[in-house]
Amino acid sequence: MRWQAYHRPATVEEALSLLHQYAGKAQVVAGGTDLLLDLQQGTHAAPAALVDVTAIRGFNTVAVEGGAVVVGAAVTHAAIESSPLIRQHGTALAESCSVVGGPQVRNVATLGGNVAHALPAADGTIGLLALDAEVQVCSWVEGGMADVWQPLLSIFAGPGKNRLTPHQLLGAFRFSVCPPHSGSAFDRIMRPQGVALPILGVAARVTLDNAGGRAQAASIAVGPAGPIPFRATESEAALLAAPELGPPAIEAAVAAAQQQAALRTSKHRASKEYRHELIAVLLRRVLTAAIERARLC
Ligand SMILES: Cc1cc2nc3c(=O)[nH]c(=O)nc-3n(C[C@H](O)[C@H](O)[C@H](O)COP(=O)(O)OP(=O)(O)OC[C@H]3O[C@@H](n4cnc5c(N)ncnc54)[C@H](O)[C@@H]3O)c2cc1C
Repeated sequence: MRWQAYHRPATVEEALSLLHQYAGKAQVVAGGTDLLLDLQQGTHAAPAALVDVTAIRGFNTVAVEGGAVVVGAAVTHAAIESSPLIRQHGTALAESCSVVGGPQVRNVATLGGNVAHALPAADGTIGLLALDAEVQVCSWVEGGMADVWQPLLSIFAGPGKNRLTPHQLLGAFRFSVCPPHSGSAFDRIMRPQGVALPILGVAARVTLDNAGGRAQAASIAVGPAGPIPFRATESEAALLAAPELGPPAIEAAVAAAQQQAALRTSKHRASKEYRHELIAVLLRRVLTAAIERARLC
């Protein structure tokens, strides 16, 4: 056994209380598809206890609350892929979760685990980032719990490192209900024999003006393009500055993303020069799809 106790709390207060009692010696687990491999391979110290978050009330639901789509941290990729709410309001997220692993992985692996594992190319994370999502961080406080919503990017510290303390949990994610004339899309390139992470993934969301010609809002996420998931802010600015969202605007966004992204060569996946070319291929595809969807919306 790599741990001595396994807890399955039903409330977030109970889960936080357990994390507090174990004083840093317990580890949160959801689907276990990243964590159990890390424990098996010894890249993660064996914890005294595992705290399973998948039975916590509210962690498994998708709902609209106050103009936002709220997705519980323990919602699986399979549930996201098939959620009509997410397909409508966060198409990029549904598309990104639909390519994670195979069906067996998607049936148990969660969005919370994908984000908390903090890899810059994690597919669900890239889809979520393009929706300008926020994350709910739940913390133990004397006598209960406190929670705060913060920008998704604020919880990443580096490859495989998040900024959560051992007394905190991710509770949920939220992004705005799709405004009129908005669309989003995700695409990635993966080695045919690849396991776990793509060579490059790109997601985008655009909102058009009433005439359908100019961008009123744009968000673009690329991974891996730096130590944490990357928002291509220069590309977003190029789209917003364009008088019309046609091919020249898309090419300006591509050039800006290629210039801003901090690409690197990875031994098992691809060279940085190849990734540079893939930014153009994927961003053209994703922006074209997002703009088409926005014009139909
Ligand atoms: C065969 C295979 C293929 C895969 N393919 C892909 C792929 O194509 N794309 C991709 O992005 N990933 C892929 N993965 C990686 C993995 O499946 C995903 O990252 C998955 O979303 C992790 O979720 P989980 O619920 O299994 O997390 P777990 O393994 O349970 O946890 C991962 C980490 O997150 C922490 N954690 C989990 N939930 C919370 C929470 N609510 N609050 C705080 N911390 C939390 C855990 O403590 C742990 O550190 C693959 C994995 C396997 C084994």
